[in-house]
Amino acid sequence: MTLEPSLALPPLTQHYARLLPADPERGPRLRAPEGALHSFVDPAPVANPAFLALNRPLGEALGLSPAQLDGDELLACLAGNGAWPGATPFAMAYGGHQFGTWAGQLGDGRAINLGDLQDHEGRWQSLQLKGAGPTPYSRGADGRAVLRSSLREYVCSEAMAALGVPTTRGLSLVQTGDPVLRDRFYNGDVRPEPGAIVCRVAESFIRFGHFELLAARQDRATLETLLSYVEDRHFPGLTGQGKDRHLAFYEAVCQRTADLAAQWSTLGFVHGVLNTDNLSILGLTIDYGPYGWLDRYTPEWTPNTSDHGGRYRYAQQAAIAQWNLAQLGNALYLLLEDAAPLQSILNGFEARFRDQWRGLFAHKLGLSRFEPRDEGLVTDLLRLMEEAGTDFTLCFRHLAEVPAREAFLEGEAAREALTAPLSRAFYANAPLEGARQESWQAWLLRYGARLHADPADPSTRRARMNAQNPALIPRNYLTQQVLDALEQGDRAPLDQLLTALSRPYAPAPEDAPLLGPRPAWAETHPGCTALSCSS
Ligand code: AMP
Ligand code: MG
Repeated sequence: MTLEPSLALPPLTQHYARLLPADPERGPRLRAPEGALHSFVDPAPVANPAFLALNRPLGEALGLSPAQLDGDELLACLAGNGAWPGATPFAMAYGGHQFGTWAGQLGDGRAINLGDLQDHEGRWQSLQLKGAGPTPYSRGADGRAVLRSSLREYVCSEAMAALGVPTTRGLSLVQTGDPVLRDRFYNGDVRPEPGAIVCRVAESFIRFGHFELLAARQDRATLETLLSYVEDRHFPGLTGQGKDRHLAFYEAVCQRTADLAAQWSTLGFVHGVLNTDNLSILGLTIDYGPYGWLDRYTPEWTPNTSDHGGRYRYAQQAAIAQWNLAQLGNALYLLLEDAAPLQSILNGFEARFRDQWRGLFAHKLGLSRFEPRDEGLVTDLLRLMEEAGTDFTLCFRHLAEVPAREAFLEGEAAREALTAPLSRAFYANAPLEGARQESWQAWLLRYGARLHADPADPSTRRARMNAQNPALIPRNYLTQQVLDALEQGDRAPLDQLLTALSRPYAPAPEDAPLLGPRPAWAETHPGCTALSCSS
């Protein structure tokens, strides 16, 4: 007898929805249920779903068979048209500080959680549909998402994962066949756009704002329940009991968040909307909206045109992460009733961020370790990059090809060849010529001297740099080009971009067209550099 492979999807298990307090009312009627952390609400069906992308490696890691990945049931479930076995769809309640101001209850306004699957490594992963219809937390909005923002989320979360940065993942990108009305430029011009749903995957979607909402309501009992749940399930290594354990938890969140901010900083990623509801309790990159990646090195840059004061600009992200951690600390204070130990842990953020940042920059420069004298080396390089508007990604990537150590050893003879590999990192309006070239040569000779003093041999150094400095990042213009092609019915550029982004540190020859700096036309083209929050 041969056994047929099962076409039925593996059943989901419920952790959050089973262990945390639920709202007794079901369905999407707008409300603010006291003492509840979620409300059960089914996805609203869509007209004509089709996969634009299905992440087969992630699906396989979640235990889905090829037959299940190819079957109709998966598409129906990921579009919200079918019921995944074991799913108890629910939206979570949370609050948040938006642009520095307490905004009250927010919650999953357009995200519906299905339940958890165990991955190949034994970790439970939650599945969540973003854009699957209204929930009790939709606050009058439609619960839907447009293709352009869903595509951006899917592409960037997968790129982030391949870059080695903690992030929520994308299992699928489904076009719904339904139009969604949006005022894309916030200028009163409301237009229909194609709707889409991303299935996001993460060990948890719990945010700082979950804790803040309960603290704002002075709901100690539910806060204690949430905290114990998160500690038991997601921080099994914590030591101590009671309040000591809660402090250990806070310290672990501070460290993960510092590490994440350092990784963003060394890759030139700007999240764009670092409200406390967009910070993951696990230190994952979450909620991809008007994000961007530095093209020219401009520390004051933010891609978010709605952020007029530049609160969430590149250079500010670590300070904002710490500000958000202070809000989390304020929430935990309700249980701990002692500010001093929370403050002392929060004060440790800066040193943790610095240490991580230094370690990562040492590797970006190919150094075995960061020494005190390297502070000036890095700062001076960044100053040169800022002055010339050098491309952040390309400059570090091509630095590995610069014969800096050789030039230091050989002097004048090799000096001429020194800057050539970097020329691709310079934009046309500030080329690597004249006095600028001399300043760069001087810095590169200093760098060469530093490399000479480092124990690593040149090939180890180059390998280390190429493993830390990506050749490819999902620049906004690349994703916009994919979107333009999709709207013409051409999926090939999407597949090509996703494949290339899966190997950002070791591109294949066919990835070459994606590896250049941002072209001049993209500087002002909508969606290619800066974006509004409309999604
Ligand atoms: P964001 O700025 O994307 O983090 O969203 C802030 C809050 O608004 C979250 O609670 C979202 O769930 C909610 N939200 C954003 N867009 C929509 C929408 N189209 N429908 C319902 N809720 C939304
Ligand atoms: Mg959000």
